[in-house]
Amino acid sequence: MENILDFTRDDLAVWLESRDIRPFRAGQIFKWLYIRQVDAFEQMTDLSKALRKTLADCFFVNRLILDERQVSVDGTEKFLLRLADGQHIESVLIPEKDHFTLCVSSQVGCAQACQFCLTAKGGFVRNLSVAEIISQVRDARYYLLEKDVDPLKLSNIVFMGMGEPLANYKNLIKALFIITDSDYGLKFSSRRVTVSTSGLVPKMTQLGLDTDVNLAVSLNATTDEMRSELMPINKTYPLPVLLAACQTFAMKPRNKITFEYILMKGVNDTRTDALRLVKLLLPIKAKVNLIPFNEHGRSDFKRPSKNAVSDFLQILLDRNLTAITRKSKGDDILAACGQLKAKLLP
Ligand code: SAH
Repeated sequence: MENILDFTRDDLAVWLESRDIRPFRAGQIFKWLYIRQVDAFEQMTDLSKALRKTLADCFFVNRLILDERQVSVDGTEKFLLRLADGQHIESVLIPEKDHFTLCVSSQVGCAQACQFCLTAKGGFVRNLSVAEIISQVRDARYYLLEKDVDPLKLSNIVFMGMGEPLANYKNLIKALFIITDSDYGLKFSSRRVTVSTSGLVPKMTQLGLDTDVNLAVSLNATTDEMRSELMPINKTYPLPVLLAACQTFAMKPRNKITFEYILMKGVNDTRTDALRLVKLLLPIKAKVNLIPFNEHGRSDFKRPSKNAVSDFLQILLDRNLTAITRKSKGDDILAACGQLKAKLLP
């Protein structure tokens, strides 16, 4: 038995054709799964009884098990989700002014070993399947539906949860196809989907060729020395290599790459850092998201003062770099950037 949520619509069409079933049925099945949110093939009433039985014999549909839900004072909700093998991941539903953003995970744990990140402390366990990535989105839409909120209000996805999405490339790409499958799937506009990476350069370039989604790069430092210390991936793909790939990254004319820059007190928050950042990003179509470090028990890094953060921002703005300070949400429930850990830690 296979999980039908592992299949893109094209995969399913091929599967159907191999059984002499008309491939357009894949679209009907997708609408049942993703728009009408049905979990049983027998409910797919515009399919013949025989086809419904064939599907039920070959596939299953499931949901992730919600083991725990935490709600922040700002309305951000964190879901602790149990996978079929007992592993856990987290996803975060963030209310914005007129829509929701879902922050999804791509791996159980992470192999990147970034010094500041809590997920890294648990090490790498495994990649998520396509179905496990997709289910985070499908289940969040269902969650809103059950609360009488229009599920399409969930319009934005960021791959900024646990894991390095580009280290799970094959499944990421299939999941992105389903998420943005306009007429039949989850119907997200690719403009509202962002993949964030620590800087796996070859896969990053490939993402630009394979999809239209937004790219975010976790930069976090302005010298190779410091970046290699904070993010070991920098030893494989150092700043000149990473930034050159950003400069030629395939994207729509008006798009920009988002550079995430965690501000850590006394580490990367000086005026010199800000000036170097401006210089590094000058040749790139870039915008900067400053993220004041979210403190957690497993790291000694500290968040700079409010003034230090706004001074840093001002230096970028004064030199015409597009930049914002990202407002942290859900930090009281450890749902903010870099605070996700699920049940990995000893
Ligand atoms: N692996 C991907 C996506 C997950 S991390 C990546 O590296 O981009 C998502 C973002 O959270 C990254 O920009 C990372 O730099 C940031 N982050 C990690 N730990 C953090 C912390 N403690 N405080 C603030 N941001 C953090």
